Amino acid sequence: MGSVRDDELSTYTLFDQRGIFKVIDGKEHQISEEEYRAANPEHRGSGCTECSFVDNANTLFVYRIPRELKDRASAEPVYVGKFTMPGWVGHSSFYIFKCEGCRRVLVDYPHGYSAGCLYVVCDDCRSKFIFHPRKNRDVYERDNIHIPPNFNLIELVRLLIRSRREARKLAKNDPV
Ligand SMILES: [Zn+2]
Ligand SMILES: [Zn+2]
Repeated sequence: MGSVRDDELSTYTLFDQRGIFKVIDGKEHQISEEEYRAANPEHRGSGCTECSFVDNANTLFVYRIPRELKDRASAEPVYVGKFTMPGWVGHSSFYIFKCEGCRRVLVDYPHGYSAGCLYVVCDDCRSKFIFHPRKNRDVYERDNIHIPPNFNLIELVRLLIRSRREARKLAKNDPV
């Protein structure tokens, strides 16, 4: 199950075991995979000059990122470029960081929204790094993502503390 938002209003695409649905004002309209693909062509053939195509995040990590960046990786994500992958209808900025939970160095792109903020997440232990809308403003601007005007600072701080604590707990249980 998952969904992709088309815009900030009430139209989005829903994927689940029943098929693909366009949801408009709360009403589901089933569409075929062909219809979905026709309306959302793959970005890789678009001639975009801003990004490069990679097969998957592993290829990106192994072949597209200089050794020094991997050696220097810390908990604070560092921008490595814009990429697109099979099936994607757009591109995204990617960041390299060292997971605070399992200490693995990995790449991810910003996901939204935890307490109204973007985050990157470790696909192994699910530890998150949440981008602060002011301190990490560049991350929001790079992908033209609106800084959440009404992000909840108290909730964000609470989330940050909790994710730090969970990461530390994981790191203790699984020392590398
Ligand atoms: Zn592109
Ligand atoms: Zn991890």
